[in-house]
Amino acid sequence: MESYNSFKVAQEQVEEAAKLLNLDRATIELLKWPQREYKFTLHVKMDDGTPKIFHAWRIQHNYARGPAKGGIRFHPDETVDTIRALASWMTWKTAVVDIPLGGGKGGICCDPKNMSEMELERLSRAYAQAIAPHIGSRVDVPAPDVYTNPQTMAWMMDEYETIIGRHEPGAFTDKPKSIGGTMGRRNATARGGVITVREACNTYGFDPTKTYAIQGFGNAGQRASMLHKKLLGGGKLVAVSDSKGAIFNSAGFDPTELVQHKLKTGSVANFPGSKPIPHGELLELDVEILYPAALENVITSENADNIKAKVICELANGPTTPEADRILFKKGIHVIPDILASAGGVTVSYFEMVQDSYSYFWNEETVHERLDKKLMAAYHTVYQALKEKKVHPRQAAMVVGVARVAEVCKLRGWV
Ligand code: NAD
Repeated sequence: MESYNSFKVAQEQVEEAAKLLNLDRATIELLKWPQREYKFTLHVKMDDGTPKIFHAWRIQHNYARGPAKGGIRFHPDETVDTIRALASWMTWKTAVVDIPLGGGKGGICCDPKNMSEMELERLSRAYAQAIAPHIGSRVDVPAPDVYTNPQTMAWMMDEYETIIGRHEPGAFTDKPKSIGGTMGRRNATARGGVITVREACNTYGFDPTKTYAIQGFGNAGQRASMLHKKLLGGGKLVAVSDSKGAIFNSAGFDPTELVQHKLKTGSVANFPGSKPIPHGELLELDVEILYPAALENVITSENADNIKAKVICELANGPTTPEADRILFKKGIHVIPDILASAGGVTVSYFEMVQDSYSYFWNEETVHERLDKKLMAAYHTVYQALKEKKVHPRQAAMVVGVARVAEVCKLRGWV
């Protein structure tokens, strides 16, 4: 039976890449485990005055190549192992796009959908107080992730700057533009993913103007729905889903109308003219391009055989289990792995840190151009490794990322 513990999956991926690179055991152990882990028990007063306890983590997986970098999730299913896995994937992601950062991640086990704005602010500030001694623009730089956003970052940055007594905008990224955020960050993850799809289509002849489907209609999914058409010259969006439902229309959806419907009603469900489908069915539709943009472990040994998409662009972190990877590879499906496909967000976060460090900001066109260059180069480096090593795409991306991190660990004399 396949294991769906994301951290075990992440460790298995390191072992596989390390084997291909002939790394020694000490290096492998170093790369399999987070370098630092912080666990916090936060106490926050709810609006009615009752105190509530929240379990939270910040994990710095590897900081050999630069400050740890990665988002903060607010999610009821968060555990130390989900955060460890996500932190590990950030290490490989920053290495694959070759930016001078390491990997980190944070999370709070909570149910943000049932909390008021004031409760979320108090929780964000409590978390910032807890992590303050352990972060900073040269140490570890958080950002938003699932169910957190620029407003969350603004509260956390304000709390952090109050504690340290000076401005340090580069300590958090994906902040609102007016307090040190960058142009082009909100759609950077989706833009990066769509750029990698463009490269795959140009290299292998897939047709982006045919059909596509998106699982998860949040920040990454919504923006991908629009950018796919805009950057690839067309395409028919036939299915989307969010936590409340999955919908299908063979005639195609207008992404902008879907976004408006979700804004108004809180879900894509019941969009006029759509047919509801079971959640799992979306992944198995006969589409040219599939974007998983929700959560981990959704493509498994149980459904991989039924997947018909020609290209899978993993905007979500860790959507595919190792066994499913092998099945997809055998079926000839072109997987653009998460550590490459969803690296646009952290790349523009890095651009934000650079701009914050000299308090001088670029225009949107410059951000887009630089992102395009980074992602295009990363795509071709990974696919060169794929051809050379004759492995599946995630292994190729891991080989690129792990080799870069291992080299720096050696140079530093750690192993
Ligand atoms: P988000 O919170 O904005 O959106 C998540 C979406 O997934 C929501 O629409 C939610 O309803 C949906 N969802 C949750 N459970 C679902 C289910 N079982 N089936 C279908 N949909 C479901 O989060 P986001 O920022 O868009 O992140 C989505 C994924 O992309 C995550 O894996 C995240 O780690 C990854 N990612 C995001 C960024 C970024 O910059 N936002 C960067 C890299 C990777």
